[in-house]
Amino acid sequence: MKRFIADLHIHTCLSPCAEIDMTPRRIIDRAVKKGLDIIAISDHNSADNIGVTVKMAEGRGIKVFPSMEITSMEEAHVIAIFSSIEEAVEMQKLIFKGLPDRKAEERLSGYQLVVNEKDEIINFCRKHLLGASDMSIKTLVQTVHSLGGICIASHVDRGSFSVTSQFGFIPEDVAFDALEISYNTDKEKAEVMLSEYKSIPWIKSSDAHHLNDIGRITTSFYLEKPSFEEMVMAFRGQRKIEW
Ligand SMILES: [Zn+2]
Ligand SMILES: [Zn+2]
Repeated sequence: MKRFIADLHIHTCLSPCAEIDMTPRRIIDRAVKKGLDIIAISDHNSADNIGVTVKMAEGRGIKVFPSMEITSMEEAHVIAIFSSIEEAVEMQKLIFKGLPDRKAEERLSGYQLVVNEKDEIINFCRKHLLGASDMSIKTLVQTVHSLGGICIASHVDRGSFSVTSQFGFIPEDVAFDALEISYNTDKEKAEVMLSEYKSIPWIKSSDAHHLNDIGRITTSFYLEKPSFEEMVMAFRGQRKIEW
């Protein structure tokens, strides 16, 4: 098995809360410089910058997983990672159906930029990407699974927009594949906070909104190759995960 260093939670300039210099080109440059082997592009409720990021990664020795950070109707964030861009786009279609358009004043509070390989803006997303979808957490996770993806509960140690903050606990009937712990929570603190949830794998990701955040914390996966299937095996306990 080989060690692959992963950061599975990176926003692009499509997320209104991310810096506009988080373009796919710059993200790949920075991720390669930081020695990352695997990244996931996970914009809020949208997959529109994934295709270009996957293309930018070609021949750079880095694997990009298509992903989205989806907001459930209870305002809990979930990282959904897919094996293909098509699956992510399919999920975006379902989410967009239940997501409102941005109001005029919201358009001023952070751009939602779809860009190309040269950092040129090709579209401004009109959906309210920071809004909540119309899917309950249970439906959301089931839908991602039915499309072939996996679900990681985002920043479960955080007091807002996490499954734990919105429910007070992690619902037993929601089949998360992993829990994500924020970069600034150490192992000891996590052990205390999440002692009830040791049956689900824990990972750490950067939740990068700025170029400097990329790879500030990582998770190592010991895999045969950096494929989606191998990562799923790691989440099922058949491969080693370390942080
Ligand atoms: Zn989040
Ligand atoms: Zn995030």
